[in-house]
Amino acid sequence: MIISTAIPEEQLFSLPLCPNWWYYPDMATVFEKIINGEIPSVKLWEDAECIAILDISPVNKGHALVISRRCYPTFTDAPLETVCHMMEIARKIDRKQREVLGASGTNIMINNSPASGQEVPHLHIHVIPRYDGDGKTPVFQKDSYKDGEAAAFGEKLHL
Ligand code: AMP
Repeated sequence: MIISTAIPEEQLFSLPLCPNWWYYPDMATVFEKIINGEIPSVKLWEDAECIAILDISPVNKGHALVISRRCYPTFTDAPLETVCHMMEIARKIDRKQREVLGASGTNIMINNSPASGQEVPHLHIHVIPRYDGDGKTPVFQKDSYKDGEAAAFGEKLHL
């Protein structure tokens, strides 16, 4: 279902191009092209702050992306208000995926910088519908702490 809010045209088309600095320094990211209507997408939501679309290569069908309208390369670059608003939309999509698709869980995920697997340098939240036994759980190879190491890390990272 396309839920659309009226967005003043000047807000839609006056956004700065993202410095797509990881791979293609002079090109707009694919998400900017989607936001500017240059390439198609299946939209689930749009407002002045963000849009939500279906991921073109879903982990499970219905996998959605909440994308900031302005380009912030990573999660950490975006204003907190933007991130909070996008999380609110991610939560709406989570509920919808459970209600309409019968998802029994979701992965709400942000890849943050290339080292984490982020491919598109434009802030986006993945909302992936999950089903019991679907075998799609991402596998992280886990490490362990030696004696005393956890405390040392805790001290370094204490906020
Ligand atoms: P990430 O690895 O977190 O940067 O995720 C980027 C996501 O964008 C991937 O899951 C891609 O499948 C998705 N993607 C790339 N191009 C498109 C597109 N044209 N429309 C929708 N999703 C896309």
